[in-house]
Amino acid sequence: MSLTARIAENLAAVRQRIAAACGRAGRDPADVTLVAVTKYAQIEWIEALLSVGEIELGENRPQQLAARAALFPATVHWHLIGPLQRNKANLAVRHAELVHSVDSSRLLPALDTEAASTGRKVRVLLEVNLSGEEQKHGFGKDELEATFDSLHGHPHVSIEGLMTMAAYTDDPEAARPTFRELRLLRDRLQLRCPAGVELRCLSMGMSGDFEPAIEEGATLVRIGSALWEGLEAVTAS
Ligand SMILES: *Cc1c(COP(=O)(O)O)cnc(C)c1O
Repeated sequence: MSLTARIAENLAAVRQRIAAACGRAGRDPADVTLVAVTKYAQIEWIEALLSVGEIELGENRPQQLAARAALFPATVHWHLIGPLQRNKANLAVRHAELVHSVDSSRLLPALDTEAASTGRKVRVLLEVNLSGEEQKHGFGKDELEATFDSLHGHPHVSIEGLMTMAAYTDDPEAARPTFRELRLLRDRLQLRCPAGVELRCLSMGMSGDFEPAIEEGATLVRIGSALWEGLEAVTAS
């Protein structure tokens, strides 16, 4: 089997599982965006993925995102899903369609300044650490509820929703309460949003747990390994 055929097959299987999860939840699959996470993917794998029609790609390091954005057509939408430091805000603003990983209030003025200087508006999600794991990034839930009202007022930053990563387990169902909590937090924060701010995005769910995430309201799922299954063997042959 060719590399492209294998990737097409993986992509179709993931899309089918997304559609089935939408079916169970009474949701329209068009309301769930698949972000193909390319952080461990070789360039040829990404080319193959683009050739079968996928254009939403996610990277977790700003430098790699910028380097890869330069290699591919401008029609590709790049999503920054990993930690961002203020001194890399320019890379995020220039290359990312959506920054999923704003984990501190201090990033917002940095993004605003960069976006203003390039004449753009940067779209962001606020990352929330609901699992409480030390190594995870993100606002604490209490912290976000306490500071949310102070996060607005950056004219070149558009806050469009929330993102989380569930604690890693072998059982996707174990992640469901975390996803539900993110949705409920979003619903509460939405009531406090200034006019014009709509938290319509929920970025939650990865290869191991995207189905419960969709059932709980995910609008963006970030999927890497499920798309790249079996490719090492194909690439070597
Ligand atoms: C790597 C990564 C993913 C994708 O993980 P898979 O388990 O390979 O699907 C999703 N979100 C973030 C933030 C990541 O760093």
